[in-house]
Amino acid sequence: MEDVKRCQMCGKVISVAEETDYYRHIRIKYCDYCRDTAVRLQTAARVARLRERKKQKDALRDEQLHLLVQENELLRERVMQLREETGYKISEPSRNHNYRKDDFLC
Ligand SMILES: [Zn+2]
Repeated sequence: MEDVKRCQMCGKVISVAEETDYYRHIRIKYCDYCRDTAVRLQTAARVARLRERKKQKDALRDEQLHLLVQENELLRERVMQLREETGYKISEPSRNHNYRKDDFLC
């Protein structure tokens, strides 16, 4: 363990092992002057990382949505094609029409 610790920001001596409590000595990183700034910088960095992650997550979700839309269009086209090939038509349902399983079977 270092006997003398210096502030990680300004280099000022902040703790001397023999003169202070052991746990305080190993925990301390900044002088009183720099501590608030250090905490603020760490918080800003954490928030920036969170925002970046959120941005990446949103981009991925948008891409997945786009792919699903494309897949849906292709499936719709395929259904139309199959209907034309087989001559199968689903009649327009009336307002009160209740779908039965048979309606969807070719
Ligand atoms: Zn300092």
